[in-house]
Amino acid sequence: MSTAHESDGALGDLIDPELPAATYVLEPDVVAPLVRRIVTSHAAGTHRSHLPFTGAPLAAFPLSSPDDVETAVARARAAQGAWAGTPVRERAAVLDRLGALVLRRQSEILDLVQMESGKARRSAFEEVADVAQVCRHYAVRGARYLADRREPGLLSVLTGVRVHRRPVGVVGAITPWNYPLTLVLAEAVPALLAGNAVVVKPDPQTTLSALWVAEALEEAGLPEDLFLVVAGGGDVGAALVDHVDHVAFTGSTATGRTVAARAGERLIGATLELGGKNPLYVAADADLDRVVPGVVRACFANAGQLCMSIERLVLHERIAEPFLERFVEAVRALRLGAELDYTADVGSLVSAAQLARVAEHVDDALAKGAKALVGGVHRADVGPYFYAPTVLDDVPADALCAHQETFGPVVAVTRVASDDEAVRVMNDTELGLNASIWSSDVARARRLAARVEAGTVNINDGYTSAWGSPGAPMGGFKASGLGRRHGREAIDGMTEAQTVAVQRGARFGVSLDALYSLGGETPSRVLTVALGAMRRLRLP
Ligand code: NAD
Repeated sequence: MSTAHESDGALGDLIDPELPAATYVLEPDVVAPLVRRIVTSHAAGTHRSHLPFTGAPLAAFPLSSPDDVETAVARARAAQGAWAGTPVRERAAVLDRLGALVLRRQSEILDLVQMESGKARRSAFEEVADVAQVCRHYAVRGARYLADRREPGLLSVLTGVRVHRRPVGVVGAITPWNYPLTLVLAEAVPALLAGNAVVVKPDPQTTLSALWVAEALEEAGLPEDLFLVVAGGGDVGAALVDHVDHVAFTGSTATGRTVAARAGERLIGATLELGGKNPLYVAADADLDRVVPGVVRACFANAGQLCMSIERLVLHERIAEPFLERFVEAVRALRLGAELDYTADVGSLVSAAQLARVAEHVDDALAKGAKALVGGVHRADVGPYFYAPTVLDDVPADALCAHQETFGPVVAVTRVASDDEAVRVMNDTELGLNASIWSSDVARARRLAARVEAGTVNINDGYTSAWGSPGAPMGGFKASGLGRRHGREAIDGMTEAQTVAVQRGARFGVSLDALYSLGGETPSRVLTVALGAMRRLRLP
């Protein structure tokens, strides 16, 4: 196992001494091949993750210390030079094989993602499909994104200019628990393609999924030490920011600000994919039969624990009542379930903390006068952290869920009298990640999209169309982020642009220096004539 920490340590090193091995849902010897990949000196204690479906202990693993993070980055840095010198088509081939492997071994990773995050299998499959898309995209397009670019030089004929994209070195990816496969690879795939090494710090609850990615990348042919995993919480994430050359952070806006400040002190690049308070507008001309299933998915996929998930439903008053009648009925019909198969529509929330946040937002809104059209209850009958898909009406402006991200299966309804009012309501937030517009008139929806302050706008869809188009940038306006993932923009964020300019005529004595050596006003006169001619010829 090439990327593993060199511990043939006894299994006892890998587990929590407080609990007998048989207590874990995933027995320690089953997860040992994954857990041994954590870069750790076993000095920072143990973490115990849980199975959200029941709350039972899932697995235990050793954490990384700040020194271990330094070790991981040093190992990655030592490996990165040779990788950057590997032809891009060979790097692309590794990612192509990874995409195929994830599709082939999907049942294994679907189980693991469900067990770590508590999501329904159909939401877990979105991750598999996304990774297959992203791997294919960069395997096919990556070389083009990285190709040298010729630019017109100073006095075009005299100077030849090429712009190269150089890898930054080691990219640190800090990821949350909600899409444990997708969000690790959304950063790692373009980073590796561009010739970087990657050190990932996943959320402690979803560390095994990141370790599975390490195993899969090794099987796909990635050389040793180019993708390493450190385990731990915020302190380990902060240590990673202190050592890497670029940080790709996905998480809450509050943590994003801390990460950005730390990256700013070090003057390293940071891409920040943060929270949303995403609106969905149903215009007066929308075809309600087609709209309802899409809006249900937009609000409740992954139990609403999706950065692009819809939390504000903006309805034109002309269709509001018939829409709500059908919508509420469809939401009531959603099946909650804790099975490792496709029977459930909606899974569990990830943790007690997440349940507490969702319940606090709903209870606060109800106490301030909102009405629950459906839901509004903890579904402990299904599992300890399940919460019923909830639609709230008459939510007052001072309710928590009116402006803060809930990150759960809760959506609040607002009625508007015009498209202009809808745009005002949609933009009335400090966040700007995703928005959705439903109308039978796509041209009209496009005109509205141009006025919406969000990094992605999905027309007649909630989030999948923009998220699932890996050539198109994805990220946030306003406090929803900085920089973009996907497409050329991701590569640009993880590489440095280097301009190499050659004075072509220097070896024949034709150069700027030769011109300046003429002395007096002559060089300025010659340059004035040349610049005027370039302007008339419209040379860029
Ligand atoms: P979080 O900010 O609490 O944690 C995210 C990651 O940052 C975790 O790995 C955590 O351990 C780490 N971390 C915590 N403190 C840190 C620090 N001081 N320095 C460095 N790392 C630190 O977020 P969360 O609650 O786990 O995730 C949910 C949030 O993520 C939501 O706000 C959601 O909208 C957002 N999110 C955004 C996107 C996107 O693409 N924009 C995607 C998924 C989730």
